[in-house]
Amino acid sequence: MARYTEASCRLCRREGAKLFLKGERCLTPKCAFERRGYIPGQHGQSIRRKFSDYGVQLREKQKTKRIYGVFEKPFRKAFDRAVRQKGIAGENLLRLLESRLDNIVYRLGFAPSRKIARQLVRHGHFVVNDRKVDIPSYLVKPGDVVRVRDKSQRLEVIHASLRGMGKGRELPWLTLDKTTLSGSMLELPKRKDIPTPVQEQLIVELYSK
Ligand code: SF4
Repeated sequence: MARYTEASCRLCRREGAKLFLKGERCLTPKCAFERRGYIPGQHGQSIRRKFSDYGVQLREKQKTKRIYGVFEKPFRKAFDRAVRQKGIAGENLLRLLESRLDNIVYRLGFAPSRKIARQLVRHGHFVVNDRKVDIPSYLVKPGDVVRVRDKSQRLEVIHASLRGMGKGRELPWLTLDKTTLSGSMLELPKRKDIPTPVQEQLIVELYSK
């Protein structure tokens, strides 16, 4: 299965924004973007970030893909699906990305980052409605219950993540039960309840060319 092999912090520096790809480290002074916020590479410090309209749209799309850890093909597929749905295409796209199982595991606090959430899902540590699901792109629906599998309930990475989860990560469209290590999506999220700092309209403009 394809995966990003480039160092996560380079992606933040490339996009000129903190993408929070490394969990708790992102909130500490060790964050590479805080220390070296310029574009990576030999001439990074001398490159000025000045983009054409197309460049701005492209970077917004790349940034969104990197935040959610999704490659171009599935991202484009999600966009095509979002366009076919009722409502605003950009918001539909974000809703689809938020509904991915790896994202839900991260949002519920079972993993400190989406990257680790994806790994935990792939390793079969979660069930959805009591059925094992090990596909990170699996789309969770409102009412579905995502739970840590019985045999994985003692995994320290999950408990450490829940302990480290700040109050700010709680979202109104998700509910978490720490005693049973389960959570549920109450409803599809509204745009205002998706704390992803992207301008999705720029992605729609890019793909609509
Ligand atoms: Fe990005 Fe986190 Fe690395 Fe900082 S520590 S550069 S926010 S991935």
